[in-house]
Amino acid sequence: MHEAGGPRTALITGGSRGIGRAIAERLLADGLRIVLTGRHAERLAQAVEELGGSAQGVAGVALDLTDRAGLQRGIEALAAAAGQVDVLVNNAGIAPGAPLHRTDDATWDRVMQLNAHAPFALCRAFVPAMVERGGGRVVQIASIAGLTGVAYTSAYCASKHALVGLTRALAMELATTGVTVNAVCPGWVETDMAAAAIERIERSTGRDAEAARASLERMSPQRRFVRPDEVAGLVSWLCSDAAGAVTGQAWSIDGGTVMR
Ligand code: NAD
Repeated sequence: MHEAGGPRTALITGGSRGIGRAIAERLLADGLRIVLTGRHAERLAQAVEELGGSAQGVAGVALDLTDRAGLQRGIEALAAAAGQVDVLVNNAGIAPGAPLHRTDDATWDRVMQLNAHAPFALCRAFVPAMVERGGGRVVQIASIAGLTGVAYTSAYCASKHALVGLTRALAMELATTGVTVNAVCPGWVETDMAAAAIERIERSTGRDAEAARASLERMSPQRRFVRPDEVAGLVSWLCSDAAGAVTGQAWSIDGGTVMR
């Protein structure tokens, strides 16, 4: 599924921390070259260095994916840094929580831009060359909020449903090309995003951190958060040759929260 000889290259958005960072570590261990994006140049440079830098085939491109005008320039920089993209992991995302009446248009636009439009634009930029080469992998990091309703997350939930819809449409469109497109749908994962949600619950309910955390853990039948490396393991498999017949699926990784 890739040009003979050379290692494949994976482009991972939001790869400097959290789930994206775990995916970078795992795909690097699988032998891929890695290009990461992140908003903050310094944090990104540090992540690239910690992953081994250019000696290990790791590069970074600073990019704010909520800036639609900047995205096109960013795509050019990504293409230059990657050479070719064999694996695209659309991971970057934000999850502001608020009731409907306090979700303003600016929040809606920012969430839809980052969580839905940016993955669409990156697929449009990099998938045609995968098709020309006869293979590739797209993995969208969605959420259980892309599969079911989650209260106080109207913009986030809508954006992740859009991402799952994009996944299914592209999987059909690309079915005969050797390019697979799948979504990974985690429940709560131990990252800064979950920490921010715990703080939000503390503020809005007056509970302490432990009680706020327990309320999120109770959402999973396993009564725990998912680990970033568990998400990365699923992504690794989806990117492997073994998963060549797997496309258009939305993979829950949530301790059994969503069963379909
Ligand atoms: P995180 O907040 O730790 O990391 C988010 C990443 O996205 C960071 O690298 C950040 O720099 C990047 N990012 C944020 N805004 C950006 C922007 N404007 N432009 C470019 N990059 C930007 O969160 P995480 O938990 O690692 O989340 C990764 C993905 O997993 C997200 O799409 C999120 O929706 C999804 N997810 C997370 C959880 C969870 O509980 N943590 C659950 C389900 C789905």
